[in-house]
Amino acid sequence: MRYVQNEEKVSLIGQNLTELQSISEQLGEKPFRGRQLYDWIYRKNIDNHNLMTNLPGDFKTKLSERYKVHPLVLLHHSESKQEPTKKFLFQTSSGHMIESVLMRVGNRSTICLSTQVGCAVDCQFCATAQMGFLKNLTSGEIVDQFSQIRSLTHEPVSNIVFMGMGEPFLNYKAVIQAADLLHQPDGINMGFGRITISTVGIVPKIRQYTAEAHRYKLAISLNGVSQEQRLEIMPISKVYPLSDLLTVAREYAAKSKKRLTIEYVLIEGLNDASEDAKTLKGLLQNIRCKLNLIPYNEIGSSFRRPSDDRINSFLTQLEDASFPVTVRRSKGTDIDAGCGQLAIKEKTIHV
Ligand code: SF4
Repeated sequence: MRYVQNEEKVSLIGQNLTELQSISEQLGEKPFRGRQLYDWIYRKNIDNHNLMTNLPGDFKTKLSERYKVHPLVLLHHSESKQEPTKKFLFQTSSGHMIESVLMRVGNRSTICLSTQVGCAVDCQFCATAQMGFLKNLTSGEIVDQFSQIRSLTHEPVSNIVFMGMGEPFLNYKAVIQAADLLHQPDGINMGFGRITISTVGIVPKIRQYTAEAHRYKLAISLNGVSQEQRLEIMPISKVYPLSDLLTVAREYAAKSKKRLTIEYVLIEGLNDASEDAKTLKGLLQNIRCKLNLIPYNEIGSSFRRPSDDRINSFLTQLEDASFPVTVRRSKGTDIDAGCGQLAIKEKTIHV
């Protein structure tokens, strides 16, 4: 069941400075009021018009009549008993639901944002794929996940990853707009290097991203060392074959002068053999990258997570690789907040 909120108000989160200045003018105010509004919602993270003390009363009244601050409603959040990981369930104004995750490791707090409701890409190992594609999120709906989590937890956030539900590069424009809003130094102020956009390999969009010289970090989810192996779990490889993906990865790393992150989900018996590790080492040797190995998080499908022995054998083959290798043990798997586990299970909505 989907419950659509009965409201026409436009959201302020998602509007950039120029748009907020224009809104102020439309409401009969000088453009500098837009700057003040920008400061309240993005830098100070204040969402109550009444607390925006330097705005005139009649402007606040007009604002609250026509605008709301948040495009999303936070419905629920849960906390892992195993690690300091929290999962958040939001509802969009169209009645769809999305999830986001906050993970804490050492001094780092990372928020994993969703970019679409469901996903059309159909990676076989991913719970989100089972929802199908329902809708692209707006830039406001993407940024608001961050804003509301920050307000609720009061935790400083060190990193943002676009790795939640959806394929970011199939919602390219909104994702770049959201990253730009999250980055603005006079607003939320997340440095370029603290924002990572992750794609399964939408080749023309990687080319576009490279040509536009965006400075956010880029991650590519590779998950296989041959076209055949990749095809078994990622049907998108039919459209964008491995050879093309490696070509654009190389072009990006060379042109951006940044270290690309290669994500590789390790699945037992499918891509976790020592031979696969050797092939992977060869494939990546001329690409400026770091490799992130992610042991598979089981979601009730036929795929299995490799044993620690198999993971260690895979790692041993990569000891002399020309690039750094890390193993990412997913956080919050007890609340289905690990990589590839995000999917909406609720059928009814409690608003
Ligand atoms: S892994 Fe990402 S791109 Fe693939 S189905 Fe899941 S959400 Fe979509």
